Amino acid sequence: MRASQFHISTLKEAPSDAEVISQKLMLRAGMIRKVAAGIYNYMPMGLRSIRKVEAIIREELNRAGAIELVMPLVQPAELWQETGRWDKMGPELLRLKDRHERDFALQPTSEEVVTDIARQELKSYRQLPKNFYQIQTKFRDERRPRFGVMRGREFVMKDGYSFDRDEAAAGVSYDRMYAAYGRIFERLGLTYRAVAADTGAIGGDRSHEFQVIADTGEDALVYCPTSDYAANIELAEAVSLLPGRVSPTAALEKAPTPGKERCEDVAGLLGLPLAQTVKSLVLATEETDEAGRVVKTTVWLLLVRGDHELNEVKAGKVEGLKAGFRFATEAEILEHFGCKPGYLGPIGLKKPVRIVADRTVADMGNFVCGANEADFHYTGVNWGRDLPEPELVADLRNVVEGDPSPDGKGVLAIQRGIEVGHVFYLGTKYSKAMNATFLAEDGKPRHFEMGCYGIGVTRIVGAAIEQNNDERGIIWPNAIAPFEVVLCPVGWSKSEAVRAEAEKLYEALLAAGIDVILDDRDERPGVMFADWELIGVPHRVTIGDRGLKDGVVEYQGRRDTEASKLAPADIAAHVI
Ligand code: ATP
Ligand code: MG
Ligand code: MG
Ligand code: MG
Repeated sequence: MRASQFHISTLKEAPSDAEVISQKLMLRAGMIRKVAAGIYNYMPMGLRSIRKVEAIIREELNRAGAIELVMPLVQPAELWQETGRWDKMGPELLRLKDRHERDFALQPTSEEVVTDIARQELKSYRQLPKNFYQIQTKFRDERRPRFGVMRGREFVMKDGYSFDRDEAAAGVSYDRMYAAYGRIFERLGLTYRAVAADTGAIGGDRSHEFQVIADTGEDALVYCPTSDYAANIELAEAVSLLPGRVSPTAALEKAPTPGKERCEDVAGLLGLPLAQTVKSLVLATEETDEAGRVVKTTVWLLLVRGDHELNEVKAGKVEGLKAGFRFATEAEILEHFGCKPGYLGPIGLKKPVRIVADRTVADMGNFVCGANEADFHYTGVNWGRDLPEPELVADLRNVVEGDPSPDGKGVLAIQRGIEVGHVFYLGTKYSKAMNATFLAEDGKPRHFEMGCYGIGVTRIVGAAIEQNNDERGIIWPNAIAPFEVVLCPVGWSKSEAVRAEAEKLYEALLAAGIDVILDDRDERPGVMFADWELIGVPHRVTIGDRGLKDGVVEYQGRRDTEASKLAPADIAAHVI
């Protein structure tokens, strides 16, 4: 590529609404331009990195036996109604109508459509396993799009789905994807960690997130440096890291409708850092009589998933509790928290949920199995969280750095990460809901065992920058830099010798398969250097008359403090 023919559009200052470093640098380097909240143009410079991320993902998935297809961005409501997600998803699912007033959604992910493909195409166990993936635009109407491409509304995701004959085979598919993800993130050149993640209603231990390590990450991770133990601690755990930090009753009183706006407001009331993610909150309110005796306790169980938003709040409804203590009905919670009905749905409390009380720690799982009043004395508002599945049981509530690791193999450390990938065993959740079956070896129909596997393509570009930057700009890992090498001729229009050597080197690097850009804009060195350091090209070669007299050019790696002199013929070997 020649710079004069490309589109280079750098800015001295980032727009004032840019919040995090990757967003500022992507805007300044001309990689993205904002169109609306969470919606960006991927400019030519940015698209080059995005395409490189996609290419690595494609290669590794194809190698692992996955098959590429493309599913539609606009998907009919009927499929989403079959799984119930049309109602459950809330406002994150962007809905639209066609000219006949028929309902459609923009895909936030594609379990429904891919399961529909499977039930039509995969008739026999002989066609299994199958693993379909796409690299496609997704739309999620995030309540708070932010951080540029890191939490966009429109973004590019690789989503893949495996179909297997039984659970054991699904485990093999899962492990294969887990391994492929490891190779992908290695090749991308990022420092990452795979952590155990919440398996929600599905249960089991097969859900892992791939997290790019960065202090600015939204997720908190706990890991053991001397073993493989690593898990995502989400906010509820962090809440309980801070017992007694506020008077929860007072907090609730101060907030006539906590949760109405955002979890961030709740987090604020509880005195928590906004960056943390609220996962579940168990709040209890009490009514007392004139003598101060508790006459009624209501437990509000809110599961708040994901992005600090209340758009997936679910209310708990549990029967069978003894007098004096009851869970609120859905209607009461709706009213109390001012939520829209679409936000709520009953949750099954199959997993133990713990209430951290002022005086007692009671296991809500036990409450549900016939607890009596003696089992739970607590005051005010309580908070809690989902416990990890038994395999992972680590009571993370009071975790601090240096605590023993749950696997007994060392001590725990805490760091922050950016979720860039997620592998998840789905079981038969979608195949049952959509009655997607194949004929098993015994001739009987069986539901597919499924897994789903996501990678945030555009988020990776942001995460890579969060991890690799300095005061001058971006520092790309070679594999995903928009260009690997930039040639900066000093005196392009004035020196025949410089021009000739630059052209020669340019051709030689291209011939060696190196992604090189020749800066033939005839700019001063200072301007060229500032641009390319901002853009973050990993290798720079400066060609000037002075060096050429001694038969050398100047090479400087983006992280190097000084340039070194090299013969032009040695450059290709040096940058590979
Ligand atoms: P988050 O917890 O950050 O909201 P998620 O768990 O909702 O992410 P998944 O449904 O697991 O996301 O989607 C797979 C991947 O897509 C994520 O691991 C992430 O890398 C990416 N992704 C999700 N939401 C966004 C977004 N709004 N913008 C950019 N990438 C996203
Ligand atoms: Mg997540
Ligand atoms: Mg999300
Ligand atoms: Mg996820």
